[in-house]
Amino acid sequence: MSSEQYHTQKEADEIVLKGVAASPGIAIGTAVTLKKDGIVVEERKAEPVHDLERLQKSIDRSIYELEKIYRTAVDKLGQDKAAIFEAQLLMVSDPIFFSGVKTRIEAEKKNVEFIVSDEFSKQVRQLRKSDNELFRQRAYEIEDVKNRILRNLTEAHLKSKFEGKPIVVTSDLTPADAVLLSRNEVLGYVSDFGGARSHASILSRSLGIPAVVGLKDATKHVHDGMKVILDGYRGVVVFNPTEESVRNYTEKKEWCEQLDSELLSEASEAARTTDGRRVLVEANVELLEELPLLKPHGADGIGLFRTEPLIIDAESIPDEEMQFETFRKAVVEATPNPVVFRTFDIGGDKLFVGDHDEPNPFLGWRGIRMMLDRPDMLKEQFRAILRASVFGKCRIMYPMVASDEEVVRANALLEEAKASLSSAGVAFDRDIEVGVMIEIPSAALMSKEIARHVKFLSIGTNDLTQYLLAVDRTNELVANVFDEFHPSVIRTVKLIIDSGHGAGIRVAMCGEMAGNPLATVMLLGLGLDEFSAVSSMLPVLKKIIRGTNYKSARRFARQILKLDSADDIKRLLIGYLKTHFERIYHTTISEEYVE
Ligand code: PEP
Ligand code: MG
Repeated sequence: MSSEQYHTQKEADEIVLKGVAASPGIAIGTAVTLKKDGIVVEERKAEPVHDLERLQKSIDRSIYELEKIYRTAVDKLGQDKAAIFEAQLLMVSDPIFFSGVKTRIEAEKKNVEFIVSDEFSKQVRQLRKSDNELFRQRAYEIEDVKNRILRNLTEAHLKSKFEGKPIVVTSDLTPADAVLLSRNEVLGYVSDFGGARSHASILSRSLGIPAVVGLKDATKHVHDGMKVILDGYRGVVVFNPTEESVRNYTEKKEWCEQLDSELLSEASEAARTTDGRRVLVEANVELLEELPLLKPHGADGIGLFRTEPLIIDAESIPDEEMQFETFRKAVVEATPNPVVFRTFDIGGDKLFVGDHDEPNPFLGWRGIRMMLDRPDMLKEQFRAILRASVFGKCRIMYPMVASDEEVVRANALLEEAKASLSSAGVAFDRDIEVGVMIEIPSAALMSKEIARHVKFLSIGTNDLTQYLLAVDRTNELVANVFDEFHPSVIRTVKLIIDSGHGAGIRVAMCGEMAGNPLATVMLLGLGLDEFSAVSSMLPVLKKIIRGTNYKSARRFARQILKLDSADDIKRLLIGYLKTHFERIYHTTISEEYVE
């Protein structure tokens, strides 16, 4: 789904902005802007004794504030989700970091603001180098701590109490803002920066506060007291709406709320078609904070647990123990349903590890290729997964596989990991299932051969689309060419499903297409056995599957396979959803598909 922004000047002063749907729900209310003008830090000479005193005061005040935020987070969200503020508390009271700062203040006799800012910025720069949203997110958190200390040095406090029930509009919503501001009766959050997987967005979802982020310049269009409509389903914000827009959205809000509670109340029911075909609907997970969402959203397990977010940088690859602890938590939470752990998918747009520079990282050293070159790292990860397998049901999946040879080599290393555990007398599930992500065209074409070596295939449409269409999934210039509904993608999906079934194994999909309600009936008709998507979409997918006849879905899929243009395919899919699942069409379909 494109988060590309557009503005439309519908009537006199109504401004419609499109961003990223970060937390579902519709809010209609009045804007309050949370100004966060960049703190300007100048470099100047200063008296160390005085500045060291100011630094201590600022650290004390920051600790006090963060403890308050932490307590609120524990009360409202529980210990697990509050952990992020524990991490921030550790940062503001890190003796090693601040002894470095103090030494510099004394040695350089420069102002504390400059030294603090400089030291934090070094860390932030390092993390920002990553193209991975999660690592950039960590950079935001460090930046947030830096700003808190700088604000407290200048004694400029951010407003955190509001009258009435506002919609808060800000440049960037930090996790601390999301929690602290929720102590007011906030109706929604709107921000210029941020993505759907940022911590602030996850916390907004847990707090049940609708949010749209990544609007780029929302703060430029708004002033305090301006009327605002926020559509957290579609990622749309309307400033200064016309009466007609207010009427339409008020009606839509009622609809959506009704549909939401209906969907959640039946989320635990199995996804079985009207003629009895049962498919599994599972969750994609990358942060432990997402685990509490599994049960309320009716997840039949975790179909993709991305493990690379555990790596912060090349110097801190998590050891077996740390990985095991994380995996164990996921398995316990998902039990009795399975968790599919994908081995580290490093490289490409994800974290870069190594001291070389790649001109073409997407075609470079990434995924299973890198792990096969680092067998010890892969075996360590296998051991962590195997050890977690006694706490529930685990599966292992290899990413970025290009040929069956790689699968054979990875399987051999898995056997070595099993042998080392056995000889140490450590228990594990000896029948642990192994699967492969099919996301490279060569693997799709060889899926029959690959299927012979594994128990399941999982289609990664994000990379599959990128490589089939030769379009960089992160490049906005070609975002309009990236189309998972291209006939070549759909025909390849069919080929993979048929290969898997021919070999008598299950075929899942964990790319974004699996969570797009527009694709659900078609995928069902193509024979997909398991859908894995972001938790919030699972109740919608289940509703569609439960309302569909498998035989009709198969006919529908055959009809789609005959089409040779993405536009024709999308037209047919939109028509189908609109006719058969009108309320879902109106609430969950991304704006780019709305007619
Ligand atoms: C995919 O490529 O479709 C996929 C699910 O993997 P990722 O998005 O993590 O590359
Ligand atoms: Mg991928």
